[in-house]
Amino acid sequence: MPEGPITHFSYSQLNTYLSCPLKYRLQYVELIPPAFTSVALAFGSALHEAVGAYYQSRLEGEALKPDQMHDVYRATWQDAENIKYFNGDNEKTLLQKAKQLIDVFHENVSPDTLVLGVEEFFEFNIEGVPPFQGYIDLIEQSPDGMITVADLKTAAKKLGDNNVHSNLQLTAYSLGAEALGFDPDSLTMRLDVLTKTKSPEMVRYETTRTHLERDRFVKLVKQVWSAIERHAFFPRDDWHCAQCAWADHCREW
Ligand code: SF4
Repeated sequence: MPEGPITHFSYSQLNTYLSCPLKYRLQYVELIPPAFTSVALAFGSALHEAVGAYYQSRLEGEALKPDQMHDVYRATWQDAENIKYFNGDNEKTLLQKAKQLIDVFHENVSPDTLVLGVEEFFEFNIEGVPPFQGYIDLIEQSPDGMITVADLKTAAKKLGDNNVHSNLQLTAYSLGAEALGFDPDSLTMRLDVLTKTKSPEMVRYETTRTHLERDRFVKLVKQVWSAIERHAFFPRDDWHCAQCAWADHCREW
């Protein structure tokens, strides 16, 4: 069993293990704090918070204006500690980019959907694994009654079809929505991606998840948890390493 107090499993844990098992050990088992907050994480989190606040305001009544979303972005950014910049970015250029992306979001968001849930907590059980927990970014209903479960992301460029159809977070959402009482076979799953390209865009990618895909996800989680229990931790050196906040500890492996 892991030494750390792992009381639940999550998509973030799964994704971390799949991208680098040693990073999983350092972060979740040894509980070593990150050496820094990567600028990509700080930027994505602040933008995510601004978009989440917009949907929350729709849920509560009056939708936030772009200026109010900019304020949410700034407040969240200021809470991030020890940000490490890469690729010539700085706070000022990123604030400009964030404002552009928020404005693009505001111009493209559908005003006529009914927001049913924002950051909806879910939990489901997989045999032999701690409870799988997460939060669905957005659940909304279109005027024709179709219910959509969406994940909100920022990305450096547009996604390929395979990134959408094999996206594991959406599969976790499908199981999470089922745990919340929705029929997962009748849901539309969607990735709303704000691209940090020169001319920013908001691209919506729609997909579905079948019970076979959910079963495959469950098998994957079981296998990964079994590997964690057996302490199968090893480095996966690749392009992620350049921005890894546990790289100093990794060198001691
Ligand atoms: S530096 Fe690379 S190999 Fe080492 S823990 Fe980080 S991601 Fe894994």
